[in-house]
Amino acid sequence: MFADYHVHTEFSDDSVYPMESVVRDAIQMGMDEICFTDHVDYGVKDDWDAGVEIRWRGNEPFANVDYPAYMAEIRRMQSEYGGRIHIRTGLEFGMQTHTIPQYKALFARYLFDFIILSVHQIENKEFWTQDFQRGRSQKEYNERYYQELLDLVRNYKNYSVLGHLDLIRRYDNAGDYPFEYTKPLIREILQTVIQDGKGIEVNTSSYRYGLNDLTPSEEILRLYLELGGTILTIGSDSHKPEQLGAHISDTRKRLKELGFQNFCTYAEMKPVFHEL
Ligand SMILES: [Zn+2]
Ligand SMILES: [Zn+2]
Repeated sequence: MFADYHVHTEFSDDSVYPMESVVRDAIQMGMDEICFTDHVDYGVKDDWDAGVEIRWRGNEPFANVDYPAYMAEIRRMQSEYGGRIHIRTGLEFGMQTHTIPQYKALFARYLFDFIILSVHQIENKEFWTQDFQRGRSQKEYNERYYQELLDLVRNYKNYSVLGHLDLIRRYDNAGDYPFEYTKPLIREILQTVIQDGKGIEVNTSSYRYGLNDLTPSEEILRLYLELGGTILTIGSDSHKPEQLGAHISDTRKRLKELGFQNFCTYAEMKPVFHEL
């Protein structure tokens, strides 16, 4: 089973990769299953049908997925290519505690196979621009990030896995913040995830960012295993052709070495287990 469970297309504001090209490329590389997980980031981006004027960043609309068009295109892909590849319907929810009600409403509007719960912004401030970290100490922004994630998993349950759980590391200009300091918060997050029958993803973009570790880190993955976590998905977080399906087989090997036995795909929000 070769599956990519974190894939962006032209329906995301930061990708121009047409969905049909993604499907054809995936078939070409022998993929058995793909799940589309385009971006929704309430608080910083608007919905197309929100009745407000969409802001533009260069040539790209600064907007969430155009849901009706997205759902229609996925259905078209399924009917055209469904004999060659399983195509699943997902989204990546870039959540913040103050946007939970908007995600609840969105989740109720459509049928999904899979939802990634990610944190890309806090207080509507982005990490990649350093807007969130600015004016905070390394301790403050690390703790604030994991606290936000903990508050989210305690108060929102319609998701499948946590996306790139330690994303803040990628944008930490002060260098590696020791795992021991945030371990108590991360433990509480993982315990909540496990208790609720949810999982975490391994995001293979760590390879392209040149990180000397997996995302989340092997320390987090070991803790997850130790706490009894079994639900793992693997996704490339691809936005471009050369990123699709990348490093998935290396990651499977590494996860097996760490002691995991399975990875998951999803159908109608339920995990399906496959051997690593
Ligand atoms: Zn993300
Ligand atoms: Zn993503």
